[in-house]
Amino acid sequence: MSARTILFLPGDGIGPEVMEEVRRVIGWYARRQLPLEVEEDLVGGAAYDRYGTPLTEATLEKAKTIGTVMFGAVGGPKYDSLPFEVKPERGLLRLRKELGLFANLRPAMVFPALADASSLKRELVEGLDIMILRELTGGVYFGEPRGIERLPDGQERAVDTQVYTTGEIERIARVAFELARARKNKVTSVEKANVMHTGVLWRRVVQTVHDREFPDVTLEHMYADNCAMQLVRKPKQFDVIVTDNLFGDLLSDCAAMLTGSLGMLPSASLGAPGPDGRRKALYEPVHGSAPDIAGQGIANPLACILSFAMLLRWSLALPAEADRLEKAVARVLEQGYRTADIMQPGCTRVSTAEMGSRVLDALDATI
Ligand code: NAD
Repeated sequence: MSARTILFLPGDGIGPEVMEEVRRVIGWYARRQLPLEVEEDLVGGAAYDRYGTPLTEATLEKAKTIGTVMFGAVGGPKYDSLPFEVKPERGLLRLRKELGLFANLRPAMVFPALADASSLKRELVEGLDIMILRELTGGVYFGEPRGIERLPDGQERAVDTQVYTTGEIERIARVAFELARARKNKVTSVEKANVMHTGVLWRRVVQTVHDREFPDVTLEHMYADNCAMQLVRKPKQFDVIVTDNLFGDLLSDCAAMLTGSLGMLPSASLGAPGPDGRRKALYEPVHGSAPDIAGQGIANPLACILSFAMLLRWSLALPAEADRLEKAVARVLEQGYRTADIMQPGCTRVSTAEMGSRVLDALDATI
């Protein structure tokens, strides 16, 4: 197995449909002397149907060995009544946990041709390019104790625990500063140090990592509530936003809406560098399996294709190829090709496969 092997997990619903277009992009690279090896397996509902579990041990082992996963989407109404432990989404959560994917990168980019799809005014979002970096394996979604208990007086009491260690904060801070160095060199660290102890520690540790290892990067601290407000007031002030699991969950969705379409949003989740310097990583579109449109050939494959561009950048260290692919997507949009979800007056409506073909044409045009 080479460092250029990718594990394909298409999943359910539109997952396999949008992943097929990534496969065609990989084919394009193969024809241009950049062969990538693809192994494919089942995950989510598709794995449950075959094996009675959303992620088999064998698939998990494969993901660990290969280290680079391209993921479609999982879930669907057919699986809604399954017990929690075998729901399709558990497959994804287990992969994230077992691969130690603590850093979730969600870029919010507004392609000029889509600036009018945003809920904000064009001038506020045109050319927007920010990166939300969310801590993914710690914080209040995992902290103990957690649960709901019955009190002697008959009431119920619910507890979640927000907890972070120095090490957890240091490693996500490092990813933030490294990302910023390859972008506009600015990090905004977001917490609520005014009311939360985890916020106080978060701020102190991020500042220490900055002063010790990344003094060349501009660092600012911001309270999470203010950050939410600033994201809709003046989003272009940001470059990299680094924050915890809970605030990242909220702020990344907020930033996503600035771009106007779920079908356009890529993401990457990265682990710590191994002894060989490589990080385990999983790339996936932000959207789900979209059962309402699955099987119709109308899903937008661009989020998945842009996730593959992130794979080229972060797992294969091919930033020029990532740029090439992102530019190809921008060009297709400029040419007026649109899937149904991003359709605008005067544009040409295309299917999933036609959008894939237009991206390949645009890639051809870069040669
Ligand atoms: P969804 O993202 O699947 O769909 C929301 C809406 O956006 C739908 O109307 C859908 O048609 C549309 N949409 C999404 N992606 C699109 C695309 N590429 N092109 C065009 N339109 C697109 O979210 P949902 O409906 O809340 O969830 C559906 C299923 O997906 C559920 O089972 C949910 O648990 C699962 N889900 C999985 C993931 C994942 O695999 N990472 C993420 C979110 C939801």
